[in-house]
Amino acid sequence: MLFDLLINFCILFTFAVLSYWPFQDTVRSNFPFLKAHPYIIGIMSGLAGFILMESSVDLSDTIMVDARHVVIVIAGILGGPIAPIISGLIIGLARIFMTDAVTIPGLLGGLNVSVLGIVIGLFSFKYPMTFKNAHRYFYYATAQTAVLIAILIHQTTTNYLHIVYFILYSAFSFFTVLFILIELNGHFKKFRHTELLAETDYLTGLYNNRKFEQLTHSYITDSTKPFSMISIDIDHFKKVNDLYGHPIGDEILKELGARLKNLVSSREGYVTRNGGEQFVVLLPNSPPAMGLDLGERIRSSIARSPFPVSDNQQEQVTITVSIGVSSYPDNGMTIQELYSAADTAMYEAKAIGRNRVFHYTNRKA
Ligand code: GH3
Ligand code: MG
Repeated sequence: MLFDLLINFCILFTFAVLSYWPFQDTVRSNFPFLKAHPYIIGIMSGLAGFILMESSVDLSDTIMVDARHVVIVIAGILGGPIAPIISGLIIGLARIFMTDAVTIPGLLGGLNVSVLGIVIGLFSFKYPMTFKNAHRYFYYATAQTAVLIAILIHQTTTNYLHIVYFILYSAFSFFTVLFILIELNGHFKKFRHTELLAETDYLTGLYNNRKFEQLTHSYITDSTKPFSMISIDIDHFKKVNDLYGHPIGDEILKELGARLKNLVSSREGYVTRNGGEQFVVLLPNSPPAMGLDLGERIRSSIARSPFPVSDNQQEQVTITVSIGVSSYPDNGMTIQELYSAADTAMYEAKAIGRNRVFHYTNRKA
């Protein structure tokens, strides 16, 4: 009996991990058919329930005990309301027809899981299942199944003891799997968070230099279309720091980052902070004229709207930026060549008076 329960637990565990891994960590695994996930998990859970029943523990000739009700609850956590309904119906039909002839216990057992799946599904439309509230659904599923077993078995002390074993096994399997899923979830979250930190600038929340290199590299390798790199540097920022203090300088950098992000949001571009008060915009599918055009929009927008330099937003300072633009493939075929071209153009914009936009192609030879 113990061996069978162990096999049952292993099947449940395998299902839980297989439906967690590719379907929940969508950021990393990116499993396709997002809309179909609840249905896929429902079907997987139904099949897992079927295998669970094939390796169930027989309490009598006709009464089988296994973790099929647990698999339905887990399906609800991982797949949403649709999954337990599908799972319950598959397991229910399988239970009814898995024996040579349809029996009363088989019919009731099948109806039991189908009802479980439907009730859990319908309730979780209103109260979505989470790792935190899933135990309530589990209690309901176990209680209903235990009552059914109690009705079907001969009323002997040994059989009542079997029901206790059933409840203990259900609780053990459910809470163990739940604990491992919660752990897995926590690890994936931390992992994603660490990844984000590694590619994000701590002050502005924009992408950092490292992500800038990755993005540029992917533009160069994945696309044959031209793109532009816009290098932005605040004019006389040292003076702003000296006048208002470093913390206010930081606030200005944050605000500038947000404004830049806003300005490129409609163009599917990326903004990165590449160090100090230097930002870069990467603009896909953009020949030189488009890069220059966005550079000019950025310059004029920044110069037009002053930045607050006091807590009550009363005092403001006008900031200007100098901008250099380079474009792929005209000004370089590598990250370094393009970056250095944009930088050269930006310094030329500084040299001719700041608050300017300059394209590398238009420089004086
Ligand atoms: P230019 O017009 O030639 O670019 O003059 P600038 O003063 O902006 O340039 P410079 O390179 O002389 O000085 C850059 C200043 O940017 C100095 C530094 O204090 C400031 N800075 C760099 N990083 C940060 C930061 O994270 N926070 C703040 N508040 N200031 C920063
Ligand atoms: Mg500067």
